[in-house]
Amino acid sequence: MKQRIILHCDVNNFFASVECALNPSIKDMPVAVTGEKSKRTGIVLAKNSIAKSFGVKTGDIIFEAKKKCPNLICVKPHHDIYESYSKRIRSIYEEYTDRVEPFGIDECWLDITDTVKFFGTPLDVANQLRERIKKEIGVTISVGISFSKLYAKLGSDMKKPDAVTIISYDNFKKMTYKLPLSSVIGIGRKMEPKLNKLNIFTLGDFANYDKYVIKKHFGVVGEEMYNKINGIGDNEIASIDEIKKLKSIGNGTTTLVDIQTEYDMQSVVMFLCDEIASRMRYHHLKGTTIHVSLRKNDLTWFGKSYTVLTPTNTAKDLYTEALKLINTMWKPGFLIRSIRISVSNITDENEQINLFEDKQNKDKLNSAIDKIRQKYGYKSISPLITNNDEVINRDALKTNNNDEET
Ligand SMILES: [Mg+2]
Repeated sequence: MKQRIILHCDVNNFFASVECALNPSIKDMPVAVTGEKSKRTGIVLAKNSIAKSFGVKTGDIIFEAKKKCPNLICVKPHHDIYESYSKRIRSIYEEYTDRVEPFGIDECWLDITDTVKFFGTPLDVANQLRERIKKEIGVTISVGISFSKLYAKLGSDMKKPDAVTIISYDNFKKMTYKLPLSSVIGIGRKMEPKLNKLNIFTLGDFANYDKYVIKKHFGVVGEEMYNKINGIGDNEIASIDEIKKLKSIGNGTTTLVDIQTEYDMQSVVMFLCDEIASRMRYHHLKGTTIHVSLRKNDLTWFGKSYTVLTPTNTAKDLYTEALKLINTMWKPGFLIRSIRISVSNITDENEQINLFEDKQNKDKLNSAIDKIRQKYGYKSISPLITNNDEVINRDALKTNNNDEET
């Protein structure tokens, strides 16, 4: 396959930059966006580079931050405005390619392989984006240009603000293999100390390790990371049309111990439905057909599906329907090893609106959940019932788009 050209664009100090764009009189002063004291969230959520030069850090309590930087200007966050800036920036990216994948509110990957020829070189595209966003939006971005998502992201971290870094296939090892593991997203706090025990401290240590041993210790997650760091794969960014044409969205998991009780079944089903629903909302999709497959401990699969009248993308709806299906084919006491759930008959979120549905409340709750996840990561909020670490194997979630269930 032809090598892809992938850009990773990251808005510099996003929240603080937006605040300065809104109120230019503070742009040359140290600025921090802080949570509200009364809500016990009086911490620094973001800061501009001047505040950073005083040592102000994200997560500092306001009082600590002010000790480091007495003239610090604290402003309250305006999440709706950040959202609209994020959309405007994304629509500029979409003028250059239909393959844009957002990551959080202020980062995007762009695959410009097929469209770069209309704009010049990859560096030209990066510079055009950088200049346009500065001029039209009033904030700066850092851009990484590379052949994979991981290396494009590493590139955008290397030089900032308002800069471009190219990491080519010929020089990626030289440029990055000395970097610590923490420079890569996806090596979690749990994985890093375990890697350290194997004498793996840098990206190069990881890349040159025995793949078999990595897989033995860290399973599929480790193997994927091994491939990414070695520059293999990790370059797929779906086009807007491809996402809209998805036939189904689903996932499945094999639990740590066989599912036997009703509670364990409920928590695993919610764990899966919550992730599917969140992914559907992310792509602005809804679906009507819910399919559940169960695998017994003799490794045979069986399943059923059901079609609801109103398209949905909420975890609660999927959970309710999935459990109804499960209750027709399973009773507590029968051992289940794996579950797969998927939703098909996918439509665009805005295509169908059911007037009888209590749409507004559901949407408010879900968009609040989505916002928290965008900001603090997927795992920052989850339904209480999924707090079942005896059974749920959080590292063994296999997500799939378009996977036709059997
Ligand atoms: Mg950023």
